[in-house]
Amino acid sequence: MLQQTTVAAVRGYFLAFVERWPTVRDLASAEDEDVMAAWAGLGYYARARNLLKCARRVADELDGKFPSTRADLQDLPGIGPYTSAAIASIAFDQPETVVDGNVERVMSRLCCVEEPLPNSKPELTRLAEGLTPNARAGDYAQAVMDLGATVCTPRNPACGICPLVSRCVARERGIAQELPRKIRKPAKPIRNGVAYVVQRADGALLVETRPPEGLLGGMLGWPTTDWGERPPPAPPIDADWQSLGAEVRHTFTHFHLRLSIRVARVSDRAVPERGRFMPWDEFDASALPTVMRKVHDLALPLPDAADLGQSVATEAD
Ligand code: SF4
Repeated sequence: MLQQTTVAAVRGYFLAFVERWPTVRDLASAEDEDVMAAWAGLGYYARARNLLKCARRVADELDGKFPSTRADLQDLPGIGPYTSAAIASIAFDQPETVVDGNVERVMSRLCCVEEPLPNSKPELTRLAEGLTPNARAGDYAQAVMDLGATVCTPRNPACGICPLVSRCVARERGIAQELPRKIRKPAKPIRNGVAYVVQRADGALLVETRPPEGLLGGMLGWPTTDWGERPPPAPPIDADWQSLGAEVRHTFTHFHLRLSIRVARVSDRAVPERGRFMPWDEFDASALPTVMRKVHDLALPLPDAADLGQSVATEAD
């Protein structure tokens, strides 16, 4: 959960998660949708899918026991160089080196590495490996990560209370705050799309579980068009669509998304071309990923037809 996310954002999710699935076998036997719903709002949903795959491998093929070496850990779904080093050192006290953004920052300042990231990554990893002790490597890994998170912070590092101040080269040269340098990333492109919110007369809402692979894979959401420069309309059901006149904006890792919203009411007999109607009392907005929850918050309760603009001829979008 902590990859790409802060402890503050994760704490509530983590506690609820381990209370519901306290062991790897409990998680392995969980339903996919329940795990995805418990992850909703945390982002980077491939992590949840991989966590589930990993739990099933450990439960089914490894008798419920995690391997303890970095190489064997990396053989499991979703566990790469960073996570394998973290588990091996913190859980099994192996002398492996954990390198996250905090560690890179501390190393770049301590040793005054001026080459920008990401080119400097191999050098920063080598420096971090050189400092990793054989004994208590897990404590050491957590100490350096915490130092980066709380003392050697991106802006205004608290060098006055830093236990490494006497050997910190960037501090001595007065450029600590400028490091690590980073190559400027190109601006993210903007993609557009339409989200369709449909309610039946009995209150049921039309929802869709997204395909297992890809962005928001396996998550519950509203039917949408593809997301692109000017995607063609793709209404999921025949209806008198109204434009909500509002737009959801959301930023993913590689692009900004602008989703306009179309809403419609349909009869209890209406049959969707895709998706399924979920009864109102089963619908839980907290199971939606953030972008879909933003659509929910804007669209529901559906406004009266009189408050909406003109009907939208979807072919002309
Ligand atoms: Fe970071 Fe300052 Fe400590 Fe150097 S002395 S490691 S710049 S907090």
